[in-house]
Amino acid sequence: MNIHEYQAKQVLKGFGAPVADGVPVFRASEAEAAANKLPGPLYVVKSQIHAGGRGKGKFKELPADAKGGVRLAKSVAEVVANANEMLGNTLVTKQTGPAGKQVNRLYIEDGADIERELYLSILVDRSVGRVAFVVSTEGGMDIETVAHDTPEKIVTLAIDPEKGVTAQDAGKLNAALNLSGNAAKDGEKLFPLLYDAFTTKDMSLLEVNPLIVMKNGHLRVLDAKVSFDNNALFRHPDMVELRDTTEEDAKEIEASKYDLAYVALDGNIGCMVNGAGLAMATMDIIKLYGEEPANFLDVGGGASKEKVTAAFKIITADPNVRGILVNIFGGIMKCDVIAEGVVAAVKEVGLKVPLVVRLEGTNVELGKRIIRESGLNVTPADDLDDAAQKIVQAVKGN
Ligand code: GDP
Ligand code: MG
Repeated sequence: MNIHEYQAKQVLKGFGAPVADGVPVFRASEAEAAANKLPGPLYVVKSQIHAGGRGKGKFKELPADAKGGVRLAKSVAEVVANANEMLGNTLVTKQTGPAGKQVNRLYIEDGADIERELYLSILVDRSVGRVAFVVSTEGGMDIETVAHDTPEKIVTLAIDPEKGVTAQDAGKLNAALNLSGNAAKDGEKLFPLLYDAFTTKDMSLLEVNPLIVMKNGHLRVLDAKVSFDNNALFRHPDMVELRDTTEEDAKEIEASKYDLAYVALDGNIGCMVNGAGLAMATMDIIKLYGEEPANFLDVGGGASKEKVTAAFKIITADPNVRGILVNIFGGIMKCDVIAEGVVAAVKEVGLKVPLVVRLEGTNVELGKRIIRESGLNVTPADDLDDAAQKIVQAVKGN
């Protein structure tokens, strides 16, 4: 689960992080009162969408030379004018894809005088099995570009979970970020508290880009992106309240209602599989034969007919899907349950694209018979390889 920048800043502030004062705004009519709560003379009007690169983004509805999704304003009147221009429009950034995202919330913030822009993130480094800091002096820009062009400017530091962020760790991070004086003192406080926020709230990513050194020599968290580990969300009802479902993929929300492990992707072949490993293998083999999966979907071990029906409907609701591959190895999951779910779903929503079904395992003969006797136009397949080739061929021939 992701949250908005202003929410992330609120969470981090709770742990003691230095963030600017700011007021979220949902309607343009609220902008003036929001700005009046801030000291001025510099304000920042920031689009709140679940995507980065807003500063360099472009609004679809505005002329190409209009300003981006993060704007500086030098008066309350300018804040209001910008809010009017931004709210309700569609912001396209490097991370939103060409469709962009509608800006339904703004964050009006007290502006900072920036001396330097740095990069800091905390994530789980699987290669060492630890939480790690990733820092760079090259902040404010796309970190992927820094990693590509000047990888030596990125420093990674894994943290010992028993010790947390030690004084020595803080020293290393300060050195990597070239911080001294007050900024280094701020760093000594900031690094442990961000680590504390990350671990306490079960975050999977905490990214501050940029972390700034202000003209007064102090540090400030200028931008914040936070993602939570969904598997730990049950421990954080206060974080779940921050969820903004309008920012999420409608198909993924529907899938989460049925407890289906579903991830929307860009390809053309819808996949319904049981078991995460088999689902990954199915996606790989589709790619091997030259097509792209439209989704990852693991219906799980003990899926009911209702769950399978819901899953099938979610797959067919994706307009990019030009073929569907059902690949079930029935261990705990019974093939006849899958077959009944597929037949029920097809009867309800119709089948406009080719469907290849590979069933194996418990009650396989019964499952195959249910599909055969349903009269549906289903292509049966014997194994994974056969199934992948058949669905790729069917989609290519369409
Ligand atoms: P992003 O483009 O989505 O990553 O949004 P950011 O919050 O990182 O803002 C983009 C850029 O706007 C920053 O890198 C800064 O250069 C600039 N910016 C944001 N807030 C301020 C501010 O308070 N003062 C100044 N001078 N610039 C700011
Ligand atoms: Mg940023």
